[in-house]
Amino acid sequence: MTSKIQMSRPIAELDGDEMTRILWQQIKEIALEPFVDLKTEYYDLGLKMRDITDDAVTLEAAKAIKRLGVGVKCATITPNAARMTEYHLKRMYKSPNGTLRAYLDGTVFRRPIIVPGLKSYVPGWVKPITVARHAYGDVYKAVEMKTDQPGKAELVFTGADGSQQRKTIFDFEGPGIVQGMHNRLDSIKSFAAACFEYALEAGEDLWFSAKDTISKTYDEAFRETFQALYDLQYRERFEQKGISYFYTLIDDAVARAIKSRGGFVWAMKNYDGDVLSDMISSAFGSLALMTSVLVSPGGVYEYEAAHGTVTRHYYRYLKGEKTSTNPMATLFAWTGALRKSGEQTNNPALRAFSDALEKAAVTTIATGTMTGDVAALYGAMPEVVDSETFLKKVAEKTEELLKG
Ligand code: NAP
Ligand code: MG
Repeated sequence: MTSKIQMSRPIAELDGDEMTRILWQQIKEIALEPFVDLKTEYYDLGLKMRDITDDAVTLEAAKAIKRLGVGVKCATITPNAARMTEYHLKRMYKSPNGTLRAYLDGTVFRRPIIVPGLKSYVPGWVKPITVARHAYGDVYKAVEMKTDQPGKAELVFTGADGSQQRKTIFDFEGPGIVQGMHNRLDSIKSFAAACFEYALEAGEDLWFSAKDTISKTYDEAFRETFQALYDLQYRERFEQKGISYFYTLIDDAVARAIKSRGGFVWAMKNYDGDVLSDMISSAFGSLALMTSVLVSPGGVYEYEAAHGTVTRHYYRYLKGEKTSTNPMATLFAWTGALRKSGEQTNNPALRAFSDALEKAAVTTIATGTMTGDVAALYGAMPEVVDSETFLKKVAEKTEELLKG
């Protein structure tokens, strides 16, 4: 082995829980540290440490990502009642991803890893479809009410200058439910900008879909914001790259997507993105092949896997069994972060390493060695291995590629 690749600036490293915490360590030891002199600021977001610090560690990590420009995050447990007992928690902490997104703002891009030889459940989808989900507002920040008697529900806005706007939502003759949601125009604008930038970088068309025929003010504001920003700042660059932006209604977009070959970025409002990202990741085969990056305003990037901590595998691991848990998405979180760091610090060797490691991982599966979850998607007879064996193969291939 020749000398290791150096990093001039650290990235924020957010460790997590259960099986992915085990994978995290294996990925670093087997696939990263032999090649790169890793520089990270380490934050332990494992549930135990979140409890010890009253969750302060999560906010510290969010600040570190903002300060350093790049972060990589392991999957973490979002506590529920059962976890309260299991970990003897002081309180039921909020989802770490929720805390990070609330602090960093921005857009979550979920992109499947395409492996030649692994079939998608939608046969036409031969190229990736990246879901760009607006990570702010709408129903996720809504206030709701249940009423048990007849009455009038109203929408009232009181301006800072004291003026008022008022609209009747509904005149109830009996019990009912009401919901009030909002979004901020600056958040929508940064969502749109993140999507245009991502599409340019990927060299792929951008779709945006909403329901402005029904939601003539709310969804219309999204559509207008995208269009205005496109006309003002992006049309020319898109045309130069040979890619396009187009808006269509969400129901039309769903129908078109099914008939497409993939290979585009699909921007969606918060709820649409929540629902469709799970459908699209399942269609591409496995949650373990779905990568995720939060792009926040000001060029800040947080990379992670889309899946959770794989609890069922962890319990088997604790009993001493070797598990065949797929490290791909977590590995790609690291390569994404290292590549971005390489870009930001002008480090071509780090970028080349990220490319090589990704290529090695994809080739390992394409040539028949893989974890159990994707074996059924492989046409021929695959060799199913445990996570560690898989990573060792990937590291060997990476070394070959780097010698090149
Ligand atoms: P999960 O960890 O994604 O696992 C669900 C199932 O999907 C697994 O049991 C496994 O199926 C399969 N799977 C997921 N990732 C895999 C991988 N890398 N390799 C192989 N199979 C994989 O979801 P969950 O069980 O609903 O949630 C577990 C914990 O994760 C929860 O505490 C939740 O709060 C947390 N979570 C965190 C995040 C995050 O940090 N971003 C996201 C989601 C969930 P089989 O068991 O059938 O093999
Ligand atoms: Mg969801």
